[in-house]
Amino acid sequence: MTRARQTRGSAAGQGAGFLRAANLERAAVPHGFGMRGSAEPPGVRRAAQVHGARVLCADGPAGAALSQPAGETPRPPHRTEAPREADALYATHPGVTIGVVTADCVPILLAALAPTAAATPAGATPAAATPTAAPAVAAIHAGWRGLAAGVIEAAVAALRRAAPRSALCAAIGPHIGPCCYEVDAPVLTALFDSPAPPSPQLAPPNALRPTRPGHFLLNLGAVAQHRLTRAGLPAAHITTIPHPCTRCAPHFASYRRDGPQSGRMLHWIAVPVSPRGGRVAP
Ligand SMILES: [Zn+2]
Repeated sequence: MTRARQTRGSAAGQGAGFLRAANLERAAVPHGFGMRGSAEPPGVRRAAQVHGARVLCADGPAGAALSQPAGETPRPPHRTEAPREADALYATHPGVTIGVVTADCVPILLAALAPTAAATPAGATPAAATPTAAPAVAAIHAGWRGLAAGVIEAAVAALRRAAPRSALCAAIGPHIGPCCYEVDAPVLTALFDSPAPPSPQLAPPNALRPTRPGHFLLNLGAVAQHRLTRAGLPAAHITTIPHPCTRCAPHFASYRRDGPQSGRMLHWIAVPVSPRGGRVAP
């Protein structure tokens, strides 16, 4: 886990500012995790979030519709999805900014970057000079339903298709903590694809704590981290923003604390424009 820092009144947002992830900062990828009162930067493209696993491409011109990724077989819908409904977006055109909103769910920002020699496997040719290497970015809204439906895996796959030979970095933003997130056994079964935790990191006492019969306090961020790792991201490329629980900390929006009045926090990421952006730094 690496550090994050907070900036106030940056060029991208005023007011409460945004939290930044160290790994994306090192790679010079513009991004921010919002809090209550963070002003939305102009031009952020967003989908209508429905707690599913659909990924859409946001590369069209400003005002254009989000699009089904090229060459992708449409996922069989579990429900009828309107054209703008998706819980992950990706973009590859420099300057395009995408975002998701949350209030307790897990926001994840992903970047597919040109690997440095340090990030390239021994014997392989660094892909930095390959036009298709990078960069590309994605933003994911991951509650338990989206995690169970595979939204992280779908977004990682879309980025790998959009930017082959890239190295992926991920940053996990502020979300509800295990202090306040109680789930029952059917939710766990859906999240784990089995009745038992799929890894020691998700087993008690690490990410699960029994409460009343059939119920557990769950570390949802640990599930997201596990899914990213299972999708092939090295642990060293995943940063979790150090943060208190969104329900416990008043500077975050929390649906569980405030209900429909909670508002939402915006988390955004942009395809780097500058020449120094979009590279995995050692
Ligand atoms: Zn809490």
